[in-house]
Amino acid sequence: MSDETRYSNESYEFRCPKCKEGLIQISQTEYDLPDEDKMLIIKLECSKCDFLKTDIIPMTARTEPGRSILKVKEEADLRSKIYRSPSAKLEVPELELMVNPGPYADFYFTNVEGILLRFEKAVTTYKNSLNETDPKKKEVITLLNDMKKAMNGQMPFTLIIEDTGGGSYIIPENKQNYKFLKLDPNMMNEKN
Ligand SMILES: [Zn+2]
Repeated sequence: MSDETRYSNESYEFRCPKCKEGLIQISQTEYDLPDEDKMLIIKLECSKCDFLKTDIIPMTARTEPGRSILKVKEEADLRSKIYRSPSAKLEVPELELMVNPGPYADFYFTNVEGILLRFEKAVTTYKNSLNETDPKKKEVITLLNDMKKAMNGQMPFTLIIEDTGGGSYIIPENKQNYKFLKLDPNMMNEKN
């Protein structure tokens, strides 16, 4: 991948990583969240091909490493907002769902329902790839039914984001269903 970077005034352009011909145009939008937080949405777009990447950067000072835990008990909790940075692990133990951190993990900003929808899509794709006779198929169908219940607010579950780098967070609809546990940056042990 070439690192060709060209500076012009205050904005800069670089060569598209996909087609390697077009120039990437960068646009920034500031987005105000209802709770007075701000997000910076950065859009990278190629002038030639269909390359498009959106990054969302929180402009708040919540950078402490820690574990955010949200108990989803009713429909309103599904509207709690989630921001996950690539250094975070996201987990729903009741549904055996997990997203691990990694260099290619996406930033994302969504709500709890949006996360379940992403999981549902992935699990459905997995289900469709299984043979009718595969014993795992029944298990996966049960999981999908549980996910539907969870999305309708009929099944309580826990959403955990563990971020050793900091920067991820949950904006809960019901504050009493939410807690944040700090992680010791050296020990990575739970501390309250
Ligand atoms: Zn391109």
